[in-house]
Amino acid sequence: MGIVVQKYGGSSVADAAGVKRVAQRIVNTKKAGHQVVVVVSAMGDTTDELIDLANEVSPLPPARELDMLLTAGERISMAVLAMAIQNLGHEARSFTGSQAGVITDAAHGKAKIIDVTPGRIEAAIGEGAIAIVAGFQGVSQTTKDITTLGRGGSDTTAVALAVALKADVCEIYSDVDGIFTADPRIEPRARKVPRISYEETLEMAAQGAKILHLRCVEYARRYDMPIHVRSSFSEKEGTWVVKAEDVAQENSMEAAIITGVAHDRSQAKITIVGVPDKPGEAASIFRAVADAQINLDMIVQNVSAAATSLTDISFTLPRGEGQTAMTALSRLQESVGFDSLQYDDSVGKVSIVGAGMSSSPGISARFFEALSEAGVNIEMISTSEIRVSVVVAETQVEAAVNAAHAAFDLGSDEIEAVVYGGTGR
Ligand code: ASP
Ligand code: MG
Repeated sequence: MGIVVQKYGGSSVADAAGVKRVAQRIVNTKKAGHQVVVVVSAMGDTTDELIDLANEVSPLPPARELDMLLTAGERISMAVLAMAIQNLGHEARSFTGSQAGVITDAAHGKAKIIDVTPGRIEAAIGEGAIAIVAGFQGVSQTTKDITTLGRGGSDTTAVALAVALKADVCEIYSDVDGIFTADPRIEPRARKVPRISYEETLEMAAQGAKILHLRCVEYARRYDMPIHVRSSFSEKEGTWVVKAEDVAQENSMEAAIITGVAHDRSQAKITIVGVPDKPGEAASIFRAVADAQINLDMIVQNVSAAATSLTDISFTLPRGEGQTAMTALSRLQESVGFDSLQYDDSVGKVSIVGAGMSSSPGISARFFEALSEAGVNIEMISTSEIRVSVVVAETQVEAAVNAAHAAFDLGSDEIEAVVYGGTGR
């Protein structure tokens, strides 16, 4: 009899009917002989609605109060879920993140888990109850204030609890049947990936695939906690996120070179035009960006024009941080002596990811050929050992995903992907 941690996303518990359906599923797992710990997200679009509400009363809601407000979303779902389970005749007890022992740093809105002390959870399941934990939240070790882990953070709560409880598996339930070779919302021929390594999942998540919270995969990799990503709307086996060795073993017959195509529409591009090509310029530019706490992604510096010895530097960053970055950079204009700044938020990023690409040449060429045949213009390129990413016009993201998916034979003959719920918001 092992411990199973199950996490249900907002779309799985969007309304009372969803809550009852999930309650039944949890009870079934309990009846199968497991000790069950459940992590739950806020119902439907509750978190977004709470953010809208905060913005209505204040243009800049204080971070401490915003966290206090947002954690209310998960409190609602944990309590109603516990009620629904009790109504089915099984004991269930709900706990806030703080009660469950999720200890974080003090960074409101993006707190990091530094320790998990799940004494109350262990006691509850030890007494035969089902424990329900509010996802996405914790309590700061230093300030004792309530914190949130960042959007989508319930996944991380689930994995962290699974690790602390030495669970057999962390099951993450959403409204799709697993991890797909591309987002089924824009690639109808997307196929479900049966097994994928932590590393590939990290790349997919970092490149915008909205499958799992990035930090949850990092956490799972660090402690080797297998994640089973599956739908709460079907009984189908989902995708197992496991060690690379375990994927290789399973796929020994014929490993796919490319595992999936990810896309991201949340980025913007800044170009610094006419930067003097001499030592230290890039350093002062990116020091300013770093000091403004901007998470930049791709950086491209063009070869300087011989006549002027001026160069252009472009980089991508999350759109939400665009304003801050532009302000920080314009302060440097005089000291660095560049000509101008350009801001473009109508870009998107498309990436191909696959552990097999490090050992097979010609992958980039095939990708770029497919884009060119689809009439997609590439604005920037970056690569890692297991990924090739391009920045394209936002209007061409879909065409680029479809082209890459076809070029690497990722599509299935039948339509496999079912999107059961969710507004995709
Ligand atoms: N409710 C939070 C959000 O929507 C956390 C989560 O869903 O994991 O971001
Ligand atoms: Mg949510």
